[in-house]
Amino acid sequence: MSSKRSETVKLTARFKLDGEVDERLFETYKRIVNELLDYAHSKGITSFKRLKSEKYHELRQEYPELPSHYIYTACQMACSIYKSFRKLKRKGKTKSEKPLLRKDVIMLDDHLFKLDLEKWKVRISVPDGKLEFKLLHGEYHERFKDWKVGQAWLVRKPDGVYLNVVFSKNVEMLHCVDVIGVDVNENNITVATNRGFVNFGTRERVIRTAYFLKRRRIQTKIKSKRVKARILAKYRDRERNRVLDIYHKVANEIVRLALKMRSAIALESLKEIRSRINYSKELNGRLHRWSFRRFQQILEYKAKLNGIAVIYVDPHKTSRLCPICGRKLSPNGRRRLKCECGLVADRDVIGSWNIRLRGLRSLKIDVGSTVPPESPSMNPETGRLSATHASKVVKVAESQNGFKAQSDRHKGIPNRPCTHNIGSSRIENSTPLQRN
Ligand SMILES: [Zn+2]
Repeated sequence: MSSKRSETVKLTARFKLDGEVDERLFETYKRIVNELLDYAHSKGITSFKRLKSEKYHELRQEYPELPSHYIYTACQMACSIYKSFRKLKRKGKTKSEKPLLRKDVIMLDDHLFKLDLEKWKVRISVPDGKLEFKLLHGEYHERFKDWKVGQAWLVRKPDGVYLNVVFSKNVEMLHCVDVIGVDVNENNITVATNRGFVNFGTRERVIRTAYFLKRRRIQTKIKSKRVKARILAKYRDRERNRVLDIYHKVANEIVRLALKMRSAIALESLKEIRSRINYSKELNGRLHRWSFRRFQQILEYKAKLNGIAVIYVDPHKTSRLCPICGRKLSPNGRRRLKCECGLVADRDVIGSWNIRLRGLRSLKIDVGSTVPPESPSMNPETGRLSATHASKVVKVAESQNGFKAQSDRHKGIPNRPCTHNIGSSRIENSTPLQRN
């Protein structure tokens, strides 16, 4: 059982600076990092300590005008770039022969920059003194005022210079008495609680297909390479933002549920892509992988900020085994699965249910039943409770996110979780489970 403890939450925030940083600083830094990369690569050095002890003094002499900590962070950056290069190489995921820094990025440590979030200013040490910039910020940045400041990265982009800062905060974790299981799918995110299931429709596939078609039209219609690249990038950003927006909304709802039920959140450990997802050839599988991970990260930090623990469970066969008796399930129609013991349920329900069970097991929480979440159809009272609960979820969503929710309820449909479409505005409640 989880006891009271604290956890560190880390978030990276991005600020745009109100001025320019001399591009020669970026070029010098890139040259240093690449020199370090060459050296590390030729000698197989992955240790920061060793790289620093062998190259620091030489580089200090070569670049005497540079504040010394630039060399220090260049060693850190070279090490981490080289390490990830080796990892990619081992997995056969890169064709390049040696690691190389191409972007205009400078890593800053606490000696090289000083942040003042009261005045929204930053001072950065440069070769000829210190530069002060105003931080262009939004409402989002307000929350970091009482956070601890960690490392930062100075990034030069075509539209200006950005400062990415890592903030951290210690959060006291709540004592959880239950677990909710969260199953991330291509088109929906399904949540299993002790009172039933909630299904958040994300319509991700529809969004992705629409943008895929848009991009293909651009590919064929626009001749100029530069214009094409610009417009394609714009649509990529838009697609990403639309999906992220949905993720944030769903994650907020799930955290609200977890707080209300004092539950930890269980997620599948997605180190490997699961076999049950069929990627259409035209849509890029990498996007889905990005999506899963991104959603989990968003949910994890939102949960932790609220003191809700997040646990990752083994994803093996979460959608193939019966959560009641453990037997292998067989297909029963397109979206449903059935078991010899009589259980018939939606695939997503099974997935989230098993994830919840594994979460309960790993936290050693005994909810006093071998059949959690209690099947509403075995007990009409619970069934009603579940429907009420689901409509509450919908209402919260309406007021929080300004959705136009039509409450078309289909109480009679069995085996389906309550549906909550974030992507569109369709909301549908139904009894979650049925035992034949
Ligand atoms: Zn069974």
